Amino acid sequence: MANAFDQQINDFMAKVIAKNPSEVEFHQAVHEVVETLIPFVEENPQYKAAKVLERIVEPERVILFRVPWLDDKGEIQINKGFRIEMNSAIGPYKGGLRFHPTVNLGILKFLAFEQVFKNSLTTLPMGGGKGGSDFDPKGKSDNEVMRFCQSFMTELSKHIGPNTDVPAGDIGVGGREIGFLFGQYKRLRNEFTGVLTGKGIEWGGSLIRPEATGYGATYFAAEMLETRGETLEGKTVVISGSGNVAQYATEKVTEMGGKVVTLSDSSGFIYDPAGIDKEKLEYVMWLKNVKRGRIKEYAEKFDCEYHEGMRPWGVKCEIAMPCATQNEVNEDEAKTLIANGCYCISEGANMPSTPEAIEVYQNAGILYGLGKAANAGGVAVSGLEMSQNSLRFAWTREEVDAKLQKIMKDIHATCVKYGKKEDGSVDYVRGANIGGFVKVADAMIAQGLV
Ligand code: GLU
Repeated sequence: MANAFDQQINDFMAKVIAKNPSEVEFHQAVHEVVETLIPFVEENPQYKAAKVLERIVEPERVILFRVPWLDDKGEIQINKGFRIEMNSAIGPYKGGLRFHPTVNLGILKFLAFEQVFKNSLTTLPMGGGKGGSDFDPKGKSDNEVMRFCQSFMTELSKHIGPNTDVPAGDIGVGGREIGFLFGQYKRLRNEFTGVLTGKGIEWGGSLIRPEATGYGATYFAAEMLETRGETLEGKTVVISGSGNVAQYATEKVTEMGGKVVTLSDSSGFIYDPAGIDKEKLEYVMWLKNVKRGRIKEYAEKFDCEYHEGMRPWGVKCEIAMPCATQNEVNEDEAKTLIANGCYCISEGANMPSTPEAIEVYQNAGILYGLGKAANAGGVAVSGLEMSQNSLRFAWTREEVDAKLQKIMKDIHATCVKYGKKEDGSVDYVRGANIGGFVKVADAMIAQGLV
């Protein structure tokens, strides 16, 4: 995209790259944001004078630690542990933990950076953070996962707290892991507090938290469609992933009248033209959350197509929801989606589209809801879980869902406020980046040189 500010953007990025070598995903996330923020900061010199952009790309604190644990054979295993405390201008650090073999500093810094803007967009008082480990829960026994989580929390507990830093789940960290982590924190500190979100409902969790990211991304798609006078009714939807986000996006899309025809995992995707209805989704939830099996087994059970080693973006649809992981839609796949009639993308995952894919969406003028806006429902309900913990009270399902819907509407309205173009269409990338930035930047300035 030709930009009058190209030189400044390049200079800024050159410094970020020199200071953070080899953190390619972090460079990508920063570049996407500064492309819109550098022109904005030029028009709003208070941010330039205070060097807010230079400060916001530097984490307030990075914690790196060793995580030793014993596997079922009694052998010692060692993993890396991380927590990136990116920005606390508007509230305690908040963001998930990712357990996946690809986890490294660059991945977690990209996620922590995105989290700052996302959390600000939710309207709730949460700063940004992210953490995790290169530990791979796949193929591990429950006992191994527990011993790993206990060791991980033994160190992490020194750095977090309900008013300091509140982790949650992400890829590889669900209810089981949050339970083991919470148990160990409580034991070490002798405190029952809201130090983690995504807790079980019997021990301080919030209703709708498991559903929130997938539901929120669907509500966001509905908001975008409404700008064109349309709804989800009768639309064909392609979803990637088959974890928590994909599962509840499938549930909500189906409830709102759409038809979800694909799901995937790292081995391949299933294509079910009849649609993944309630009953089939129940099977997926059992397969993925209880049996911890592969999505291929869905195709065997329901006799539909399975495409080994492929992603679902070649399947014809009106709406696509990438709900798996970063950089899972490339330029060619974006072109294929659009050539096949897709005109709405709502991202359940963090940064699932490459910069080239985003450019394809933007040139085509489709509705493009980027992750930091579209998938903010998860952390938003985490924020509501924190509020309920502080109140020592629990809201009903209907109350939490109503608050989630309102937050997604508000995020959409913020994107429209900052992203509306002269022709009336909305640049959601610009809208979300500026909308998320302003509150954090103003707070940073108000708090002095922090
Ligand atoms: N990992 C989720 C995200 O990417 C949720 C974080 C949270 O609930 O703190 O936003």
